[in-house]
Amino acid sequence: MTDQRPILLWFRRDLRLADHEALTAACATGRPIIPVFICDDIVDGTGAAPKMRWGQSVGALADQLDEIGSRLILRRGAALDVLQQLIAETGAGAVYWSRLYDPACKARDTAIKSTLKDQGIDAQSFAGHLLFEPWTVSTKDGGYYRVYSPMWKAVRDRPVAPCLPAPETIPTPEVWPASDRLEDWNLSAAMRGGADVVTAHQAIGEKAAAARLDDFIEHRIDDYKANRDFPAVEATSRLSENLTYGEIAPRALWHAGWRAMEGGAAGAEHFLKEVVWREFAYHLLHHTPHILDSNWRPEWDAFPWNTDEDTPEVVAWKQGRTGEPFVDAAMREMYVTGTMHNRSRMIVASYLTKHLMTHWEVGLKWFEDCLTDWDPAANAMGWQWTAGSGPDAAPYFRIFNPETQLEKFDGDRIYRKRWIAERYATPTETALSYFDAVPLSWGLTPNMDYPERVVSLEAGRARALDAYSAREK
Ligand code: FAD
Repeated sequence: MTDQRPILLWFRRDLRLADHEALTAACATGRPIIPVFICDDIVDGTGAAPKMRWGQSVGALADQLDEIGSRLILRRGAALDVLQQLIAETGAGAVYWSRLYDPACKARDTAIKSTLKDQGIDAQSFAGHLLFEPWTVSTKDGGYYRVYSPMWKAVRDRPVAPCLPAPETIPTPEVWPASDRLEDWNLSAAMRGGADVVTAHQAIGEKAAAARLDDFIEHRIDDYKANRDFPAVEATSRLSENLTYGEIAPRALWHAGWRAMEGGAAGAEHFLKEVVWREFAYHLLHHTPHILDSNWRPEWDAFPWNTDEDTPEVVAWKQGRTGEPFVDAAMREMYVTGTMHNRSRMIVASYLTKHLMTHWEVGLKWFEDCLTDWDPAANAMGWQWTAGSGPDAAPYFRIFNPETQLEKFDGDRIYRKRWIAERYATPTETALSYFDAVPLSWGLTPNMDYPERVVSLEAGRARALDAYSAREK
């Protein structure tokens, strides 16, 4: 007789039903499936904004499963303990999940797989978070890509399997195990008053993510290359927050992008290239996990970064009150929407690491707490790339000037006005909502004066270049 024991489908950053290899494989067995989400120390230890957003995504998946007669069982505790407890309660004979690539998840998952297998449980991991598994893409000499462009050339024409359909039904167990209530986990607690402000800007769950992709393909992909650098223009897909919780599969972006390119959309190839930047970041994370917490290039270890995150300049950077309009607008965009335009991320990261000569890790950790689209791989690569210490990095001596960048990319000052209230007699709603989003303890009000610059751009630049020249000697 074939095995009819239930399968535990352990959801993590793959909170969707379509194009889900682990779910499709589980459904193919015909065995009952028990979908599970575990709030373990990895989930619990996530920063304030991404933890809230992760919880919202879990809620959306639970609703979707309900709609097709299934359920999402929520449990809290160490992942192995919870899985073993559920196996004992339900008689499950297998646990399936989609792979993750950061060192903490890899260590947890490897240990769980080995323990469960030793106990006779069929523990299996599947692809789903990436287009190309990191060990399947290599240079001619068998290494990994340290530079983006050759990796793009290597994968551009690789076949990518079509997206798998979402199951119409999922076989259910005779008896459901008990579940926690998501509200009781209180995953948005650390966001306090900012939770409602940020939530209003999110597109949560698989259906919202699919609608976002359709909208982008229909209205914006054609001009994507031309407009993607202008932060006031809605030109990009905004799918990063959906990708990070797996509300949409990267394959969905890939195939939609290719169809658009074949249909003649001018910006489509550039969009595909950006999707491959995400792959590049993940492949680097897999092969060089130290990218998360050490200079990717060790020759930067002696650089005299400021590591104190409480200096008045760094506090001003965090609060969006440096007196540098592009930097301040960008930081405020993050507090209100949970995300920040890519050009703005480069500007604030360059300003922190170069004009304020502050260690990129200070900025990386701050983003980790504030971004609803926080992604371990893209965040680490973005910070190290901008600081100059990372792979394929911008040279250190190329220092973004936030003033000329504002002129170039926000010539009409729409972005500045959207996010900064203090400079205007009639501030925009969005600019005012920054004051509702940030902690009360910052003591900020819209009728404060806009601050003087905390550092002159010339002096900050000269100091950074001096330190860089000294390092080069
Ligand atoms: P689109 O322009 O529509 O691009 C489509 C997708 O391609 C994105 O959703 C994203 O998955 C991927 N992508 C685009 N640009 C990049 C890039 N430069 N690096 C890696 N992937 C990219 N991205 C995150 O998802 N999470 C982060 O925590 C994050 N932190 C960053 C920190 C810094 C300092 C910098 C410079 C960049 C960071 N990025 C991060 C990358 C990039 O800014 C965002 O992916 C992008 O702004 C998301 O907007 P979008 O979805 O509209 O992108």
